[in-house]
Amino acid sequence: MSYTITLIPGDGIGPEVTGATREVLAAAGAPIEWEIVHAGRRAFEEVGEPVPEAVFRSIRKNRVGLKGPLETPKGKGFRSANVTIRQTLELYTGLRPVKSLPGISTPYRDVDIVVLRENTEDLYAGIEHEIMPGEVISLKVSTRSAGLRIAQWAFEFMRYTGRREIACCHKAGVSPLADGAFLDAFNEVGADYPFIAQANLPIDNLSMYLAMDPTRFDVLLLQNLYGDIISDLCAGLVGGLGVVPGANVGDKIAVFEAVHGTAPDIAGKGVANPLAVLMSGVMMLEHIGERRIADRINGAIWAVLEERKHLTRDLGGKADTAEFTAALIDKL
Ligand code: ATP
Repeated sequence: MSYTITLIPGDGIGPEVTGATREVLAAAGAPIEWEIVHAGRRAFEEVGEPVPEAVFRSIRKNRVGLKGPLETPKGKGFRSANVTIRQTLELYTGLRPVKSLPGISTPYRDVDIVVLRENTEDLYAGIEHEIMPGEVISLKVSTRSAGLRIAQWAFEFMRYTGRREIACCHKAGVSPLADGAFLDAFNEVGADYPFIAQANLPIDNLSMYLAMDPTRFDVLLLQNLYGDIISDLCAGLVGGLGVVPGANVGDKIAVFEAVHGTAPDIAGKGVANPLAVLMSGVMMLEHIGERRIADRINGAIWAVLEERKHLTRDLGGKADTAEFTAALIDKL
Protein backbone atom coordinates (compact mmCIF):
# COMPACT_ATOMS: atom_id res chain seq x y z
CA MET A 1 0.00 0.00 0.00
CA SER A 2 1.24 3.47 -0.73
CA TYR A 3 -0.05 6.78 0.59
CA THR A 4 -0.59 10.02 -1.29
CA ILE A 5 0.30 12.88 1.02
CA THR A 6 0.28 16.61 0.36
CA LEU A 7 3.66 18.29 0.69
CA ILE A 8 4.05 22.06 0.99
CA PRO A 9 7.81 22.72 0.82
CA GLY A 10 7.39 26.22 2.30
CA ASP A 11 9.52 29.36 2.29
CA GLY A 12 12.85 30.32 3.85
CA ILE A 13 14.48 27.16 5.23
CA GLY A 14 11.31 25.21 4.29
CA PRO A 15 12.57 23.61 1.05
CA GLU A 16 15.87 22.64 2.73
CA VAL A 17 14.28 20.96 5.75
CA THR A 18 11.35 19.34 3.92
CA GLY A 19 13.82 18.11 1.28
CA ALA A 20 15.98 16.49 3.97
CA THR A 21 12.84 14.96 5.51
CA ARG A 22 11.80 13.44 2.20
CA GLU A 23 15.26 11.92 1.78
CA VAL A 24 15.17 10.29 5.22
CA LEU A 25 11.60 9.00 4.83
CA ALA A 26 12.49 7.52 1.44
CA ALA A 27 15.64 5.90 2.85
CA ALA A 28 13.54 4.36 5.64
CA GLY A 29 11.22 2.86 3.03
CA ALA A 30 8.13 4.98 3.76
CA PRO A 31 5.69 4.18 0.93
CA ILE A 32 4.68 7.76 0.22
CA GLU A 33 3.84 9.57 -3.00
CA TRP A 34 4.12 13.28 -2.38
CA GLU A 35 1.60 15.59 -3.99
CA ILE A 36 3.51 18.88 -4.05
CA VAL A 37 1.62 22.17 -3.84
CA HIS A 38 2.93 25.61 -2.99
CA ALA A 39 1.73 28.19 -0.51
CA GLY A 40 3.23 31.30 1.11
CA ARG A 41 5.63 33.62 -0.70
CA ARG A 42 6.35 31.15 -3.48
CA ALA A 43 2.63 30.75 -4.30
CA PHE A 44 2.11 34.50 -4.10
CA GLU A 45 4.89 35.07 -6.62
CA GLU A 46 3.58 32.35 -8.93
CA VAL A 47 -0.19 32.85 -8.81
CA GLY A 48 -0.77 36.00 -6.73
CA GLU A 49 -2.27 34.25 -3.70
CA PRO A 50 -0.54 33.02 -0.53
CA VAL A 51 -2.84 30.01 -0.20
CA PRO A 52 -4.23 28.98 -3.60
CA GLU A 53 -7.35 26.79 -3.76
CA ALA A 54 -5.19 23.89 -5.06
CA VAL A 55 -3.62 23.65 -1.60
CA PHE A 56 -6.98 23.14 0.12
CA ARG A 57 -8.13 20.75 -2.62
CA SER A 58 -5.07 18.56 -2.23
CA ILE A 59 -5.18 18.44 1.60
CA ARG A 60 -8.96 17.84 1.66
CA LYS A 61 -8.51 14.94 -0.74
CA ASN A 62 -5.50 13.32 0.96
CA ARG A 63 -6.53 14.21 4.55
CA VAL A 64 -2.87 14.33 5.53
CA GLY A 65 -0.19 16.89 4.77
CA LEU A 66 3.38 17.79 5.65
CA LYS A 67 4.15 21.47 5.55
CA GLY A 68 7.22 23.68 5.68
CA PRO A 69 7.00 27.15 7.26
CA LEU A 70 5.32 29.86 5.16
CA GLU A 71 6.04 33.53 4.73
CA THR A 72 3.10 35.85 4.24
CA PRO A 73 3.73 38.75 1.82
CA LYS A 74 3.80 41.89 3.95
CA GLY A 75 1.78 45.02 3.28
CA LYS A 76 -0.65 43.41 0.81
CA GLY A 77 -3.49 42.93 3.28
CA PHE A 78 -3.08 39.14 3.39
CA ARG A 79 -3.71 37.21 6.56
CA SER A 80 -0.94 34.86 7.68
CA ALA A 81 -0.78 31.91 5.29
CA ASN A 82 -0.15 29.50 8.19
CA VAL A 83 -3.20 30.81 10.06
CA THR A 84 -5.35 30.71 6.91
CA ILE A 85 -4.64 27.00 6.42
CA ARG A 86 -5.42 26.18 10.06
CA GLN A 87 -8.62 28.20 10.11
CA THR A 88 -9.99 27.20 6.70
CA LEU A 89 -9.43 23.48 7.27
CA GLU A 90 -10.58 23.77 10.90
CA LEU A 91 -7.36 22.26 12.22
CA TYR A 92 -8.35 23.39 15.66
CA THR A 93 -5.71 21.62 17.74
CA GLY A 94 -2.04 22.51 17.57
CA LEU A 95 -0.26 19.48 19.02
CA ARG A 96 3.36 20.08 20.03
CA PRO A 97 5.27 17.41 21.92
CA VAL A 98 8.36 18.85 23.61
CA LYS A 99 10.76 16.21 24.85
CA SER A 100 14.37 16.15 26.03
CA LEU A 101 16.63 14.43 23.52
CA PRO A 102 19.99 12.72 23.97
CA GLY A 103 23.22 14.54 23.11
CA ILE A 104 21.80 18.05 23.41
CA SER A 105 23.06 20.04 26.37
CA THR A 106 20.30 21.99 28.12
CA PRO A 107 19.80 23.09 31.73
CA TYR A 108 17.02 20.51 32.16
CA ARG A 109 16.71 16.77 31.66
CA ASP A 110 13.60 14.65 31.36
CA VAL A 111 11.33 17.34 29.98
CA ASP A 112 8.27 15.67 28.48
CA ILE A 113 5.52 18.21 27.88
CA VAL A 114 2.76 18.27 25.29
CA VAL A 115 1.48 21.72 24.37
CA LEU A 116 -2.07 21.75 23.02
CA ARG A 117 -2.83 25.08 21.38
CA GLU A 118 -6.28 26.25 20.27
CA ASN A 119 -5.61 27.11 16.63
CA THR A 120 -8.59 29.03 15.30
CA GLU A 121 -9.50 31.99 17.52
CA ASP A 122 -8.01 34.59 19.88
CA LEU A 123 -6.09 37.56 18.46
CA TYR A 124 -5.50 35.44 15.34
CA ALA A 125 -9.05 36.24 14.25
CA GLY A 126 -7.31 39.30 12.80
CA ILE A 127 -9.91 41.85 13.96
CA GLU A 128 -8.02 45.09 14.49
CA HIS A 129 -9.21 48.66 14.00
CA GLU A 130 -7.60 52.00 14.21
CA ILE A 131 -10.38 54.04 15.81
CA MET A 132 -8.46 57.25 15.25
CA PRO A 133 -4.80 57.91 14.59
CA GLY A 134 -2.83 56.49 17.49
CA GLU A 135 -5.75 54.51 18.97
CA VAL A 136 -6.11 50.90 18.02
CA ILE A 137 -8.29 48.10 19.29
CA SER A 138 -7.51 44.46 18.66
CA LEU A 139 -10.14 41.86 19.47
CA LYS A 140 -9.60 38.54 21.19
CA VAL A 141 -12.23 36.08 20.01
CA SER A 142 -13.20 33.27 22.37
CA THR A 143 -16.29 31.15 21.74
CA ARG A 144 -17.74 28.52 24.01
CA SER A 145 -18.04 26.10 21.08
CA ALA A 146 -14.32 26.34 20.22
CA GLY A 147 -13.42 25.94 23.91
CA LEU A 148 -15.58 22.83 24.23
CA ARG A 149 -14.28 21.39 20.95
CA ILE A 150 -10.61 21.52 21.89
CA ALA A 151 -11.28 20.49 25.51
CA GLN A 152 -13.05 17.40 24.21
CA TRP A 153 -10.12 16.65 21.90
CA ALA A 154 -7.65 17.24 24.73
CA PHE A 155 -9.36 14.89 27.21
CA GLU A 156 -9.67 12.16 24.57
CA PHE A 157 -5.95 12.67 23.85
CA MET A 158 -5.27 12.21 27.59
CA ARG A 159 -7.34 9.04 27.63
CA TYR A 160 -5.79 7.28 24.65
CA THR A 161 -2.21 8.35 25.34
CA GLY A 162 -2.44 7.61 29.07
CA ARG A 163 -0.79 10.92 30.04
CA ARG A 164 -0.94 11.87 33.69
CA GLU A 165 -2.18 15.46 34.12
CA ILE A 166 -3.66 18.21 31.98
CA ALA A 167 -3.37 21.86 33.00
CA CYS A 168 -5.44 24.63 31.40
CA CYS A 169 -3.43 27.87 31.48
CA HIS A 170 -5.15 31.24 31.18
CA LYS A 171 -5.40 34.79 32.43
CA ALA A 172 -9.02 34.61 33.57
CA GLY A 173 -8.33 37.11 36.36
CA VAL A 174 -7.77 39.84 33.77
CA SER A 175 -10.01 38.49 31.01
CA PRO A 176 -12.89 36.83 32.88
CA LEU A 177 -15.08 36.59 29.78
CA ALA A 178 -12.71 35.44 27.02
CA ASP A 179 -10.27 33.41 29.12
CA GLY A 180 -13.04 32.55 31.59
CA ALA A 181 -15.08 30.93 28.79
CA PHE A 182 -12.08 28.80 27.80
CA LEU A 183 -11.52 27.72 31.41
CA ASP A 184 -15.24 27.02 31.92
CA ALA A 185 -15.27 24.81 28.82
CA PHE A 186 -12.22 22.93 30.14
CA ASN A 187 -13.90 22.35 33.52
CA GLU A 188 -17.21 21.37 31.95
CA VAL A 189 -15.68 18.74 29.66
CA GLY A 190 -13.27 17.67 32.40
CA ALA A 191 -16.21 16.73 34.64
CA ASP A 192 -16.75 13.76 32.30
CA TYR A 193 -13.16 12.60 32.89
CA PRO A 194 -12.85 12.39 36.69
CA PHE A 195 -10.13 9.74 36.29
CA ILE A 196 -7.77 12.25 34.61
CA ALA A 197 -5.83 14.64 36.86
CA GLN A 198 -6.77 18.23 36.05
CA ALA A 199 -5.33 21.58 37.04
CA ASN A 200 -5.51 25.19 35.98
CA LEU A 201 -3.11 28.02 36.53
CA PRO A 202 -2.50 31.55 35.31
CA ILE A 203 -0.21 31.80 32.32
CA ASP A 204 2.27 34.03 34.17
CA ASN A 205 2.64 31.46 36.96
CA LEU A 206 3.08 28.75 34.36
CA SER A 207 5.95 30.72 32.80
CA MET A 208 7.73 31.01 36.13
CA TYR A 209 7.27 27.34 37.01
CA LEU A 210 8.45 26.26 33.54
CA ALA A 211 11.68 28.17 34.10
CA MET A 212 12.14 26.66 37.59
CA ASP A 213 11.22 23.04 36.94
CA PRO A 214 9.60 22.06 33.64
CA THR A 215 9.50 18.38 34.61
CA ARG A 216 6.48 19.00 36.85
CA PHE A 217 4.27 19.60 33.78
CA ASP A 218 2.69 17.02 31.53
CA VAL A 219 0.04 18.34 29.10
CA LEU A 220 -0.79 22.04 28.75
CA LEU A 221 -3.97 23.36 27.14
CA LEU A 222 -3.83 26.96 25.97
CA GLN A 223 -5.55 29.52 23.82
CA ASN A 224 -3.92 30.47 20.55
CA LEU A 225 -1.55 33.31 21.48
CA TYR A 226 -0.49 31.84 24.83
CA GLY A 227 0.06 28.55 23.00
CA ASP A 228 2.28 30.23 20.42
CA ILE A 229 4.46 31.84 23.07
CA ILE A 230 4.62 28.89 25.46
CA SER A 231 5.49 26.52 22.58
CA ASP A 232 8.61 28.55 21.80
CA LEU A 233 9.47 28.77 25.51
CA CYS A 234 9.15 25.00 25.85
CA ALA A 235 11.23 24.51 22.67
CA GLY A 236 13.97 26.50 24.41
CA LEU A 237 13.92 24.03 27.31
CA VAL A 238 14.93 21.09 25.09
CA GLY A 239 17.39 22.64 22.64
CA GLY A 240 15.46 25.17 20.57
CA LEU A 241 13.12 25.41 17.62
CA GLY A 242 15.19 23.01 15.55
CA VAL A 243 14.00 20.01 17.59
CA VAL A 244 10.29 20.52 18.23
CA PRO A 245 7.76 18.93 15.86
CA GLY A 246 4.07 19.58 15.61
CA ALA A 247 0.74 18.76 14.04
CA ASN A 248 -2.39 20.76 13.31
CA VAL A 249 -5.28 18.42 13.74
CA GLY A 250 -8.99 18.68 12.99
CA ASP A 251 -11.73 16.08 12.98
CA LYS A 252 -10.76 14.61 9.61
CA ILE A 253 -7.54 16.26 8.52
CA ALA A 254 -4.05 16.55 9.98
CA VAL A 255 -1.24 18.75 8.70
CA PHE A 256 2.17 18.14 10.24
CA GLU A 257 4.63 20.99 10.62
CA ALA A 258 7.50 22.19 12.79
CA VAL A 259 6.91 24.85 15.43
CA HIS A 260 9.60 27.05 13.88
CA GLY A 261 9.13 29.70 11.21
CA THR A 262 10.98 30.42 7.97
CA ALA A 263 14.22 31.41 9.80
CA PRO A 264 15.18 34.09 7.22
CA ASP A 265 18.52 34.64 8.98
CA ILE A 266 19.81 31.21 7.87
CA ALA A 267 17.61 30.48 4.83
CA GLY A 268 19.43 29.30 1.72
CA LYS A 269 22.67 28.65 3.60
CA GLY A 270 22.17 24.91 3.93
CA VAL A 271 22.71 24.96 7.70
CA ALA A 272 19.16 24.59 9.07
CA ASN A 273 18.37 21.74 11.39
CA PRO A 274 15.86 19.47 9.60
CA LEU A 275 14.96 17.57 12.78
CA ALA A 276 11.82 19.52 13.66
CA VAL A 277 10.23 18.81 10.28
CA LEU A 278 11.61 15.27 10.22
CA MET A 279 10.11 14.58 13.66
CA SER A 280 6.82 16.04 12.38
CA GLY A 281 7.15 13.53 9.53
CA VAL A 282 7.61 10.77 12.12
CA MET A 283 4.41 11.92 13.87
CA MET A 284 2.74 11.76 10.47
CA LEU A 285 3.93 8.18 9.94
CA GLU A 286 2.46 7.21 13.33
CA HIS A 287 -0.80 8.95 12.37
CA ILE A 288 -1.16 6.87 9.20
CA GLY A 289 -0.24 3.66 11.03
CA GLU A 290 3.35 3.23 9.83
CA ARG A 291 4.72 2.86 13.35
CA ARG A 292 7.51 0.44 12.41
CA ILE A 293 9.06 2.92 9.97
CA ALA A 294 8.49 5.74 12.47
CA ASP A 295 10.35 3.77 15.16
CA ARG A 296 13.23 3.08 12.78
CA ILE A 297 13.65 6.78 12.02
CA ASN A 298 13.40 7.64 15.73
CA GLY A 299 16.15 5.11 16.39
CA ALA A 300 18.39 6.77 13.78
CA ILE A 301 17.68 10.23 15.25
CA TRP A 302 18.62 9.08 18.76
CA ALA A 303 21.78 7.38 17.52
CA VAL A 304 23.00 10.46 15.60
CA LEU A 305 22.23 12.82 18.50
CA GLU A 306 23.83 10.57 21.09
CA GLU A 307 27.01 10.32 19.02
CA ARG A 308 27.29 14.15 18.83
CA LYS A 309 29.53 13.90 15.75
CA HIS A 310 27.19 15.40 13.16
CA LEU A 311 25.11 17.95 15.07
CA THR A 312 23.90 21.09 13.31
CA ARG A 313 25.03 24.51 14.56
CA ASP A 314 21.89 25.27 16.56
CA LEU A 315 22.73 22.18 18.65
CA GLY A 316 26.34 23.20 19.17
CA GLY A 317 27.82 21.20 16.29
CA LYS A 318 29.38 22.12 12.95
CA ALA A 319 27.43 19.95 10.51
CA ASP A 320 25.33 21.43 7.74
CA THR A 321 21.89 20.12 6.76
CA ALA A 322 23.33 17.71 4.17
CA GLU A 323 25.90 16.17 6.55
CA PHE A 324 23.32 15.71 9.31
CA THR A 325 20.86 14.13 6.87
CA ALA A 326 23.53 11.79 5.49
CA ALA A 327 24.40 10.72 9.06
CA LEU A 328 20.74 9.87 9.71
CA ILE A 329 20.48 7.85 6.52
CA ASP A 330 23.71 6.08 7.38
CA LYS A 331 22.23 5.00 10.74
CA LEU A 332 19.08 3.74 9.03
P1 ATP B 1 7.80 33.19 12.74
O1 ATP B 1 7.35 34.60 12.89
O2 ATP B 1 7.34 32.51 11.49
O3 ATP B 1 7.65 32.37 14.00
P2 ATP B 1 10.49 33.87 13.42
O4 ATP B 1 11.55 34.49 12.55
O5 ATP B 1 9.94 34.63 14.55
O6 ATP B 1 9.36 33.29 12.48
P3 ATP B 1 11.79 31.40 13.39
O7 ATP B 1 11.79 31.48 11.92
O8 ATP B 1 11.18 30.20 13.98
O9 ATP B 1 11.05 32.58 14.05
O10 ATP B 1 13.28 31.59 13.89
C1 ATP B 1 13.63 31.95 15.22
C2 ATP B 1 15.12 31.66 15.43
O11 ATP B 1 15.32 30.26 15.51
C3 ATP B 1 16.00 32.16 14.27
O12 ATP B 1 17.21 32.64 14.79
C4 ATP B 1 16.24 30.92 13.46
O13 ATP B 1 17.45 30.91 12.75
C5 ATP B 1 16.21 29.81 14.50
N1 ATP B 1 15.68 28.57 13.90
C6 ATP B 1 14.39 28.31 13.61
N2 ATP B 1 14.26 27.11 13.04
C7 ATP B 1 15.51 26.59 12.95
C8 ATP B 1 16.03 25.37 12.42
N3 ATP B 1 15.25 24.43 11.88
N4 ATP B 1 17.38 25.17 12.48
C9 ATP B 1 18.18 26.09 13.03
N5 ATP B 1 17.75 27.27 13.54
C10 ATP B 1 16.43 27.53 13.50
